[in-house]
Amino acid sequence: MTVQAPSGIVSLDSILPEEPLLMMGAGPVPIPERVAAANSIVINHLGDTMAQIIEQVKAMSRYVFQTESQHILGVAGPGSAAMEMAIVNLVAPGTKVLSICNGFFSGRLAEMAERAEADVERMIIADGQAASPDDVERQLKLHKPEVLTIVQGETSNTVYNRYLPEIAAIAREHNCLVIVDAVCTLSTMPLSMDSWGIDAVITGGQKGLSSIPGVSLVAFSERAWDRINARKDQLRHWCLDAKLADQFWYKKSYHYTAPVSGILAMHEALRLICNETLPVRFNRHLRCSMALQEAIEALGLSLFVAPEARLNSVVGINMPDNMKIADVLNYISKNYRVEISGSFGPNIVRIGQMGEQSREHNLFRTVHALGASMKALGAPVNVPAGVAALESALGSYVNSAIEI
Ligand SMILES: *Cc1c(COP(=O)(O)O)cnc(C)c1O
Repeated sequence: MTVQAPSGIVSLDSILPEEPLLMMGAGPVPIPERVAAANSIVINHLGDTMAQIIEQVKAMSRYVFQTESQHILGVAGPGSAAMEMAIVNLVAPGTKVLSICNGFFSGRLAEMAERAEADVERMIIADGQAASPDDVERQLKLHKPEVLTIVQGETSNTVYNRYLPEIAAIAREHNCLVIVDAVCTLSTMPLSMDSWGIDAVITGGQKGLSSIPGVSLVAFSERAWDRINARKDQLRHWCLDAKLADQFWYKKSYHYTAPVSGILAMHEALRLICNETLPVRFNRHLRCSMALQEAIEALGLSLFVAPEARLNSVVGINMPDNMKIADVLNYISKNYRVEISGSFGPNIVRIGQMGEQSREHNLFRTVHALGASMKALGAPVNVPAGVAALESALGSYVNSAIEI
């Protein structure tokens, strides 16, 4: 043998922390026990049991996406694979695409469309702002795109495109298909695929849904499916070909070996959402995120995005100029076993409010850990005030009836 087994490899037990870290960053998020248990099971990917599970995954997804779509497909891959699946199936070489770019992930959709040889117009939105329907309409008139891409929540800089329903309606008037990245937002806030007239919705496992990373979902509208069926050219992507994926997801036949464990995990995550119901879940996320935001301000820190365009699913917090973000992340992780995220650009840290992250006990631990860490690193924060504000905001929250 020329290549020897490596020496010095240790077991996972000696690498992983004895007490798991509380995952409060921008994803992956903590998973419920039931999801973890399902993820440990392997079954026949083409048997009757799997077929029954797939039927339920599709039925529950229709509720979570708020759609009657018969074209919901799972993808073995990250949220980005679902993004790419939406893009490469709806965008052919030469297709005119308008990409609304608020940051890193919406920019990724534009890049994917370019790689699919689309003719891409990027509409760059000013930092910290939501895309405005009037501006989008002007771009639609000017460029006459066949496809528009947009992110509901831009995880990278915590901007929320709150006018998504209006923008989707305008795009529809201009006969333009709408692809929405809802990776961090789906099931944390309203998104109604059918009534908003959206043609493709993308989500990953490890954020809003509180499942594992690596298995994602994409839902296509009937209009989108017609376009996919009408394509004459052959897709360059075999794994991501929606018509091939349809073989597994709707015709009980073989495309590739489905990630069975991950789909079982997704099944449990969706079932927990259906049991909780969307209005209750949206309300839980809103209450927790608003209370977190109040607590952060009471600590003496400021929030990165103004309220009009602020995302609730991931909260961006300004860091003092003299503080290294890596130091904060290290300190809070080592001393409090809480993981939060830095960012790809702005001088902020990010705390997620997706799925299991939006639980009161996780908020108390996180607010205390962040405050105490920053204080230890020399920032003038008021830890008791932050924790008290959290308690009071949670207690005084008035249930808002959230329409779906
Ligand atoms: C995380 C995220 C993605 C990418 O998901 P991966 O699983 O990392 O590929 C895309 N869009 C948004 C909005 C995200 O938050």
